[in-house]
Formats: sequence, C-alpha cells, structure tokens
Amino acid sequence: MKNKNIVITGTTNGIGYALATQLVKKSANLICINRNADKADQFHEDLDTSNIACLDLISDLATLNESNCQELVDEILKDFDEIHGIVLNAGILGPLKPLQDVNEEEWKKIFDVNVHANFLLLKHLVPLISLNAKAKIILLSSGVGYEGRAYWGAYSASKFALNGLAEILADELSTHKNIQVISFNPGATNTAMRTQAFPSEDPSSISSTESVAKDILKLLDEDFDAPKLHLSRSDI
Ligand code: NDP
Repeated sequence: MKNKNIVITGTTNGIGYALATQLVKKSANLICINRNADKADQFHEDLDTSNIACLDLISDLATLNESNCQELVDEILKDFDEIHGIVLNAGILGPLKPLQDVNEEEWKKIFDVNVHANFLLLKHLVPLISLNAKAKIILLSSGVGYEGRAYWGAYSASKFALNGLAEILADELSTHKNIQVISFNPGATNTAMRTQAFPSEDPSSISSTESVAKDILKLLDEDFDAPKLHLSRSDI
C-alpha cells in the first residue's frame, strides 16, 4: 500500500479506526473524512503519521451537500494528484424499533449519512481515481442490506440503497477495468455500533475490528481481484 492515496470516512472509531491504523503501518497515504476534529487529532496522537501524507477533512456527513463536498475535493487536490482507493465506512444505526414508531427525522438522518453522503462522495471522488493503477471503491454494507429484518427499519433500508448504489456504479464503471467496486459486509464486529444493537452480547464472541480491517486491507490490495461485487468475509 506504500504511496497509495486512500480516502476513508469515519476513522475516529470502530472498523474505520482499525483500518486507518493498519494503512498507516503499511505506509499508505490517508485522506480521512470525520465529523469530530478532537477525535481526528487523537488519531494522530495514537499513531505515528509522520512518514505518510495524512489529510484530515472535517465534515459532518449528515449535512454534506454538493457545495461542501466540492470543497472537500478542492482540499484533497491541494495535496494529492489522484487517489487509489475509497472506503465509504462511516455509518449510523439509529434506533431499532418497529417501522410505525420511526419518526421522519430519524429516518431522514440515517439516509443522509448512509446513502446521500455516499452518493455525493462517489460523485465527486470517482473522477479523482488514478487511471494508471488498480483502484478499489469499497462500501461498507450489512447483512440487513440484503435481507430486511424487523426493527432495523431505516438502517436496513439504507444499506439496501447502498448496495444498489454499488451495483449502479460498478455497471457504469464496467469499461474502466482498473476500477473495482465492492460492497463489503463485515459481519458482526466488536464496535460501538454493534454494542448499540446488541448490548448484552459477549464482545469476545464476535470479530475484532483489527481482523475485519485486515480483510478490508486485502480488498484494497491491487493484486486482489474481487470474485463478485457483494462480498462478505467468507469470500476473501
Ligand atoms: P462505529 O459506530 O464504531 O463507527 C462509525 C464511524 O462513522 C465513526 O468514526 C463515526 O464518527 C463515523 N460517523 C458516524 N456518523 C458520522 C457523520 N455524520 N459524519 C461523519 N462521520 C460519521 O461503527 P462500525 O465501525 O461498527 O461501522 C462501520 C461500518 O460498518 C458502518 O457502515 C456499519 O454500518 C458497517 N457494519 C458494521 C457492523 C458491525 O457489526 N459493527 C456489521 C455490518 C456493517 P464518530 O467517531 O464521530 O462517532
């Protein structure tokens, strides 16, 4: 991954934090998009990023729009000529409850973060992808993005939409043989989001963020050819 420029959303916690940590160790350059500047600073305190180029962009994906997304791209272009990977990891779960109890605001916010922001980021970032190297676009999906489950309302529907977005983009980019789009379901992983969904679960019974991040690192490797668009850990 040395000298590869990778954009990741949501590196201040969970799977994104573990992935960014491993990418730093592999000497990849990072463009991190996070909502919390203090947490982004903490990332640099936790890790030695002195040997890589690391750009921190602060943006609340819940309020991302066309013009501030373009501003993010302008910031990226000041430091980087091109990018080699995009990992759309940031996401929110929202409250788990029956559809009839979900209010419009909750529903909309989940779609804003999990779908709308990712659409805008893809729209503005894909043109920055290098044409001279293999590049990966990875969207973090979920099992409930393939099969709806009671009480998972907006989150589940948003991941269906994200999978649709991945399929459309893959089809549109099918003539660009250097770019692969992957919708990746990490499975049950020990993070704050998982604890929110399953508060009484034993965290040691599910995957660690480090092991999931290792698999995403494999997906990003230019020598890895994804066998299909929708992948889970057992496919790697
Ligand atoms: P976490 O809640 O641990 O981390 C989510 C990350 O997204 C955090 O860095 C968070 O920032 C960031 N984020 C959330 N909202 C916004 C926002 N509005 N703007 C910018 N950043 C935001 O989640 P996980 O690591 O568990 O999940 C990562 C991805 O994997 C998600 O897309 C999730 O749907 C998916 N996934 C996770 C599973 C699991 O079992 N954990 C299973 C299946 C899929 P902050 O630190 O500021 O909160």
